[in-house]
Amino acid sequence: MHHVDTSERPVVLIWEVTQACGLSCDHCRADAQPDRHPDELSTAEGRRLLKEATAFGEGQLVVLSGGDPLVRDDIAELVAYGDELGLRTTMTPSGTRSLSTARVEALADAGLKRIAVSLDGASAERHDAFRGETGSFAETIRAVEDARNVGIPVQVNTTVCRETVGDLPAIRSLVSEVGAVMWSVFFLVPIGRGRVLEPIDPAEADAVMRWLAVVAEEEPFGLKTTEAPHYRRVVAQRSADDASDADGGGGNGGRTGVIAGDGFAFVSHTGEVYPSGFLPQSVGSVRERPVHELYREAPLFRKLRDRDALEGKCGACPYRTVCGGSRSRAYAHTGNPLESDPLCPYVPSGYDGPLPWESSSPTA
Ligand code: SF4
Repeated sequence: MHHVDTSERPVVLIWEVTQACGLSCDHCRADAQPDRHPDELSTAEGRRLLKEATAFGEGQLVVLSGGDPLVRDDIAELVAYGDELGLRTTMTPSGTRSLSTARVEALADAGLKRIAVSLDGASAERHDAFRGETGSFAETIRAVEDARNVGIPVQVNTTVCRETVGDLPAIRSLVSEVGAVMWSVFFLVPIGRGRVLEPIDPAEADAVMRWLAVVAEEEPFGLKTTEAPHYRRVVAQRSADDASDADGGGGNGGRTGVIAGDGFAFVSHTGEVYPSGFLPQSVGSVRERPVHELYREAPLFRKLRDRDALEGKCGACPYRTVCGGSRSRAYAHTGNPLESDPLCPYVPSGYDGPLPWESSSPTA
């Protein structure tokens, strides 16, 4: 999967199967609701979407997200159908009681390839306070054990913001203890309920990424960032500083980075297609047009794949191919998805245009 032509297919296709969820996390992107939306894609529409996703090619990765995907009683059927079609289907449940031992077993039988759980604190107090529900931490750890017992690899997702940044070293140890295969570190994009959280500042984000690059070298699990492609710039800069580190330090410096619309696509619960769940600009519905056509042909997606179309300091940046900045954060900040990512402190040499942290009047 390393040499995916991202103009043809996404590395990651996310389908938000529902916005319904038993939790109400402070930071929820989906603005989750207790009940399923009446206009959600039906079982038949979901099956058609999965079938169309096979047009992307062999082994397409499809992440079933939410809300809590386990709210849908057809979820195991959808996983099994994806598996039958040759898709690699993974899931991000909410880590509530809905992820019972019996359901974990059913998902394993259905052919689920990975479960991603959220850990936003290394202790019950901190995690549960962040997620707004007592017992969430214990349920998550139990679900991780269940997944390991039935042989489903586990990924841990963590949100980085002011409230969690101090706990990252302890969370890293927990990721290692639970035997996760991947740690996905999400740098907050302040949209939806995420607006109530406070992002860290750009210099701190770079410091966290330099630390993550060391973690990636030291730990057996994989590490990736979400909505923070400048991790690849940080890894590339480290490699340049240390000539002995020729392979890019365990990260993917040098390769074109996946960003919204370029290696990444999101299908909402009602079938709208966005470049990312954090860039809520629809290019059309899978009810009208197949997902592979929208991904390949929608003008917004094509523009997001043209790194020379970037604006601001990202457009002037020598790292725009390996990085490209979070298009979602640029959009949240300015209303223009091609603008600079305000979380990146790097200023390309010779650049004398506007800097995102100085702009006092965003157009959004
Ligand atoms: S300026 Fe933009 S493209 Fe360059 S490293 Fe920062 S976020 Fe990436």
